[in-house]
Amino acid sequence: MFLSPVMTKAKKKAIVIGSGVGGLATAVRLARKGLEVTVFEANPSYGGKATKIEKDGFFWGFGPSLFTFPELLDELFQLCGRNPADYYHYHRLDPICNYFFPDGTRLSAFAQPEKFAAEIELKTGEPSSHVLAHLSKLKKVYLLTKDIFLFKSVHKLRSYLTLKSIQALFNISDIGINTNMNAANSRQFKDKRVVQLFNRYATYNGSDPYIAPSTLNVIAHPEYNQGGYFLDGGMPDLSRSLYQLACELGVEFKFNSQVQKINITGKTATGIFEKGILHEADIVVSNMDVVYTYQKLMPEQEAPAKIIEQPKSTSAIIFYWGINRQFPELDLHNIFFSGNYPREFDYLTNKKLIYSDPTVYVFISKKYQQQHAPASCENWFTLINVPHDEGQNWDELISEARKNILAKLKASLGVDIEPLIISETVNSPKTIGAKTLSHLGALYGSSSNNKYSAFLRHPNFSRKIKNLYFCGGSVHPGGGVPLCLLSAKIIDELIG
Ligand SMILES: Cc1cc2nc3c(=O)[nH]c(=O)nc-3n(C[C@H](O)[C@H](O)[C@H](O)COP(=O)(O)OP(=O)(O)OC[C@H]3O[C@@H](n4cnc5c(N)ncnc54)[C@H](O)[C@@H]3O)c2cc1C
Repeated sequence: MFLSPVMTKAKKKAIVIGSGVGGLATAVRLARKGLEVTVFEANPSYGGKATKIEKDGFFWGFGPSLFTFPELLDELFQLCGRNPADYYHYHRLDPICNYFFPDGTRLSAFAQPEKFAAEIELKTGEPSSHVLAHLSKLKKVYLLTKDIFLFKSVHKLRSYLTLKSIQALFNISDIGINTNMNAANSRQFKDKRVVQLFNRYATYNGSDPYIAPSTLNVIAHPEYNQGGYFLDGGMPDLSRSLYQLACELGVEFKFNSQVQKINITGKTATGIFEKGILHEADIVVSNMDVVYTYQKLMPEQEAPAKIIEQPKSTSAIIFYWGINRQFPELDLHNIFFSGNYPREFDYLTNKKLIYSDPTVYVFISKKYQQQHAPASCENWFTLINVPHDEGQNWDELISEARKNILAKLKASLGVDIEPLIISETVNSPKTIGAKTLSHLGALYGSSSNNKYSAFLRHPNFSRKIKNLYFCGGSVHPGGGVPLCLLSAKIIDELIG
C-alpha cells in the first residue's frame, strides 16, 4: 500500500523550571495551548512550598494553609474542559479563624460582614458600623485595583489603558498609598485589638503593617467579603490536583532534575541545561525564585538591579507537631496575638530577630480531615513570622522560639502543650530556602513595604531575552497561592 506523506507541524516545546503552584499552573496552561511541555523539578516531587509532610501517622501541609479565591482554581480546570469536582473539593469556612488576645478576649472571624461586625462589637465594644464601613471600603479598593495590580501584567502599557484603571487613578486617595496600614486602621477603629486584627493582614505577603501602604489592607477583603475556604486534603491537594491535570494534558515531569543554566542564543532563550545536557525549547518559564534565576541560571545576563535588590519578605519558623490530645476550644485556624505588636514587627523588620512574645498561628486540618492525625490526636501546624535568613543563628532562635511559643500557648489555653508533643518536625528560613530554592528563605519573594512595591516586582516576561517568562511568588503579581495562579494566567495571555 502506498502511503502519502502527511505534513505534520511539529509542536512547539516549552520547558518550565520548577513545579511550585506557579510552575504547575503554567505547565497546565501551556499544554492546553497545544505546546509540548516538560517540567524540571529539583525535588523528588511536585508542589514546592505547597507540598506535604507525613510522619508518625500525622499529615501536615509544608506551607500554605488558607485557601481563598477558589474561583481561580476552578477557572483553570474549566478552561481545560474539566469538572473541578472530579479533582478536588472545598468548603466555605464559618468561622474562618479564632483570635486569642493576651487580655483573655476571644473572638471569631466570619465571612459574613454583618455577623463578623456584630461579633467584634460584642467582644470589644467597637461599633459594628466601623467594621462594616471598613469592609465596604476594602471591597471598593479591591474592585479599583485588581485589574491593574493583580489580573494583568503591570508592566505592559496596555494594562493601564482600560476604563477601570483610569477610574483607579482618579480615586487614588481611596487606594491609600500615602499612609501605612496601621495608621489607616487606627483612624478607622478605636479598639487596639481590632486594629491589631486588621494589621495582621500585612503578614499575608510578609510585610510590616507599620510601614506597608494602607492599600494592603485590601488583603483582608477576600476572606471577609468573599469567603475563606478549606480544601479537603489541605493545600497539598491543590498541587496534587494541578499535577494530575498536567499529566492528563501530556505534561512530562522530570523530578530530581535541577536546572543548571538557561541556554540563551543571541537574545533568545532556547532551552536549559540539566545534568550537563542541553534540552531545547521554544519557550522557557522559570518558576525558580527570580533572584536565583538571574544569579544561578544566567549569571552572564545583566539583572534588573533595582528589582533584584528589593528587600525580601519575612519567613517563618514552623513546628509541625503531632499532639496527643484534642482541643475542642480550637478550630481550623487559630491566632494567639502578641501583647506588643509594634515591638514584634520592630524585631522582624529592623532587628532581624524574633520578639520573645510572638504572634502564634496554629492550624489544625484534623478539624476537617480525620485522617490527618491518629484518633484522639491533632496535627498542629504552629507558625511564627520571623525575618528572612541573614545568617542568624537559627538553631538558637528556634530553641528560644519553641520555649516562648509553648509558654504563650500555656498562658492562653491553660494547658502545658510540651508533654503532649509526640511528633515534631521543624522548618526555618534556612531549610525553607534550601528545600524550595527560595532566596534567603523568604516566603513571598520581596516584601511589599514600599508603596511602589507592586511595580518593583519582576515582570512575568523578560524585557531583554525573547521567549523567557517568569511565574510564581517572587514575581508579579506576588506571593501567595492565588497570586501564583494569576502569574500563570498572565503568562498564558502574554504568549497569546
Ligand atoms: C510556611 C509557609 C506558609 C505559607 N502560607 C500561605 C498561605 O496560608 N496562603 C497562601 O496563599 N500562601 C502561603 N504561603 C506562600 C505560598 O506557599 C507560596 O507563595 C507559593 O506556594 C509559591 O509557589 P511558587 O510557584 O512560587 O513556587 P515554590 O513553591 O517556590 O516552588 C518552586 C519550585 O521550583 C523548584 N526549583 C527551583 N529552582 C529549580 C531549578 N533550578 N531546577 C529545578 N527545579 C527548581 C523548587 O524545588 C520548588 O519545587 C506560605 C508559604 C510558606 C513556606
